[in-house]
Amino acid sequence: MSTELINAFYLGAAILFILALGGLSSNENAKRGNLYGMLGMALAVIATIFSDAVTSYWIIVICMIPGAILGFILAKKVKMTQMPQLVAILHSLVGLAAVSVGYATYFDPNLHFSGVEKTIHDLEVYIGIYIGALTFSGSVIAFGKLSAIINSKPVLLPARHMLNLIMFFVVVIYAVIFVNVDNIQEAYTPLIIMTLIALIFGVHMVIAIGGADMPVVISMLNSYSGWAAAATGFMLSNDLLIVTGALVGSSGAILSYIMCRAMNRNFLSVIAGGFGTTSQAVASGGETGEVVASSVEEVAQVLSSAKKVMIVPGYGMAMAQAQQAVAEVTRLLMGKGVHVIFGIHPVAGRMPGHMNVLLAEAKVPYDVVFEMDEVNDDFPNVDVTLVIGANDTVNPAALEDPGSPISGMPVLEVWKSKLTIVLKRSMATGYAGVENPLFYKDNTRMLFGDAKNNMDELVKALAT
Ligand code: NDP
Repeated sequence: MSTELINAFYLGAAILFILALGGLSSNENAKRGNLYGMLGMALAVIATIFSDAVTSYWIIVICMIPGAILGFILAKKVKMTQMPQLVAILHSLVGLAAVSVGYATYFDPNLHFSGVEKTIHDLEVYIGIYIGALTFSGSVIAFGKLSAIINSKPVLLPARHMLNLIMFFVVVIYAVIFVNVDNIQEAYTPLIIMTLIALIFGVHMVIAIGGADMPVVISMLNSYSGWAAAATGFMLSNDLLIVTGALVGSSGAILSYIMCRAMNRNFLSVIAGGFGTTSQAVASGGETGEVVASSVEEVAQVLSSAKKVMIVPGYGMAMAQAQQAVAEVTRLLMGKGVHVIFGIHPVAGRMPGHMNVLLAEAKVPYDVVFEMDEVNDDFPNVDVTLVIGANDTVNPAALEDPGSPISGMPVLEVWKSKLTIVLKRSMATGYAGVENPLFYKDNTRMLFGDAKNNMDELVKALAT
């Protein structure tokens, strides 16, 4: 394929990626956005395979076939509730790819640079490996935390900020040594030491993050994976990879900013770790008061006689796969003339937009689904709020208890509605491990049990 044609393919792919990002910014266009992304990726793969950079098709076939089969099986098998873990582990692979490409390009006997070009190339390699290694180890820890293999509570080493600072300086010092080495053998030590530090830094950064702050880490790792891909693009002199990496990197950075704003967190403080670390942080059984349990029949009755109902879904709805039943309850209530709306917390569930995806899948109309900021002042006008598997995102301790690990995080103020019904299986805490005083409020009723079973029963009760 001629260079002109490859460049035309790359340009087409880059435009499709930009259109994909634009499409993903709204529910209505998300499917089209995905389609653009897939087309762009197909163009990029075709152009790359037929470029001069590929000298042996066998290696491509040997790598692509098992990769495609594995990807296909994973995509088919993975449940919606496992998507965040899948995304985290995929980010780790991008990081690993950047590390491998970095080492391969540096030690490639066919590449020779001198003068300023050599310094630039060496820095590209060094930074690419650094970002790749920390993205890899950080994403592996994020995967562990999201799949509950590792405890979601923050693990804080003594003098952790000092440790981060020392690691940073060692990396900078070795960067200077690395770009000044006279022969390739001398480069091993700085590269390997820097890679080890980056791996440790990735682990250290993510284990120090409290459960409720994980969304910021996920979007940040997403951003890092983009920068790692862009660095790989520089190393391979591949313009499309640079553009694509920069698109992912900058959109991930914007998402991290949005997440920080949604949680009222300072980005740097989250990265440095330390939220959710006060000694009284995780209350354990400290809440007292009466918990009033309700029944499906009682809930059906109050819902039917309400004028306005707000549904607040959370991770438990995803776990129970209750979204279809929730949509059915919504339709039945609307049929009875009840005004039903949804209030969505920006970090509800385990990945950005988790609840919106589930509700869209269950065909809940977009125009009744609102963001937290759009509905938070509305709760005093709501007769019944149905909290379906949400916990941290409706926890009043975030506003009322300055010592709480989630203190300062905006939450859906469901307790301000006339009646709040919480669907969950037990009195267990949410992801951040914080007790929830909502359950003990006078106007709260608990509907214990699996959210899907209870919603299915509710559908039957409302239909009769
Ligand atoms: P939480 O994780 O706080 O709580 C979910 C609740 O659902 C649990 O208390 C659990 O209680 C209940 N539950 C679980 N399974 C079921 C079931 N089958 N039926 C009924 N209830 C069930 O959820 P939220 O959505 O409120 O908050 C999300 C949390 O996750 C926040 O802390 C957020 O920061 C964090 N997070 C968010 C990410 C994102 O990008 N959105 C990424 C990573 C973390 P019980 O066991 O008693 O049933």
